[in-house]
Amino acid sequence: MSWNTAVESIERLYHDACRILVFEGGEPLMWRDGKYTFSDLARLAHNKFLRTAVTTNGTFNLNVPTDIVWVSIDGSKSTHNRLRCNSFDKIVANLSKATHPKILVHFTINNQNWMELENLLDMLNQIPQVKGVTLQLFYPYNQGETSLALDRKTRRLAMESAIMLKRQGYPILNSTWSLKAMINNSWKCHEHLLTNVDPDGTITQGCYVKSRGEIDCSQCGFTPVAEASGAFDLIPGSLLAGWRIFLNNK
Ligand code: SF4
Repeated sequence: MSWNTAVESIERLYHDACRILVFEGGEPLMWRDGKYTFSDLARLAHNKFLRTAVTTNGTFNLNVPTDIVWVSIDGSKSTHNRLRCNSFDKIVANLSKATHPKILVHFTINNQNWMELENLLDMLNQIPQVKGVTLQLFYPYNQGETSLALDRKTRRLAMESAIMLKRQGYPILNSTWSLKAMINNSWKCHEHLLTNVDPDGTITQGCYVKSRGEIDCSQCGFTPVAEASGAFDLIPGSLLAGWRIFLNNK
């Protein structure tokens, strides 16, 4: 995406009443166009939006001017390295030296890593820069990665285990409501709350899967949409999760 397309997209999102902006990739922190880097885009968005965030693979300097930095870690060192190109040590090193005030880890639960959540949480406990963890479930786009999808039984076990760990005091920021709702996908989706921008500047309102694959709501693992939908329906747990993730800086 060029600088001009990015600036135009940010203006259009703001004009369309979006108030939280999350940069995703690819890898957003690699973005540059001529003299402009990701930090220039982040500063521009920060001046307009109520909250800004970025989701990164964690292999770059994490001190960027968004309110929140989400670092993807997908399991124990060996599983993560298998799934994400041997990047685990580099991520941990970057986390340990980061000075950004709000770094969260985002864990996408799949068929290979769902048993590793507790160990990962214990490990992250040793890194004070990590202020919390958010979870979502792998969604199969049917592009050769279907083996990572969880079957019904495993999905239930994974979610029940996450709920138990949250009750034990681990810093899982998803609401218990949304974790429970993920077991059978028994939540009402307000997909209009989400707006996506593609690299060519195309803006699509609604489900993230639109224009990327076949929408199968029975397989949905998009906890951010579930949480936003819950907040829209004034579910207290989702409102609290939103406050903890986006507003609370402790
Ligand atoms: S896949 Fe998930 S986010 Fe997309 S429309 Fe279905 S329930 Fe909503």
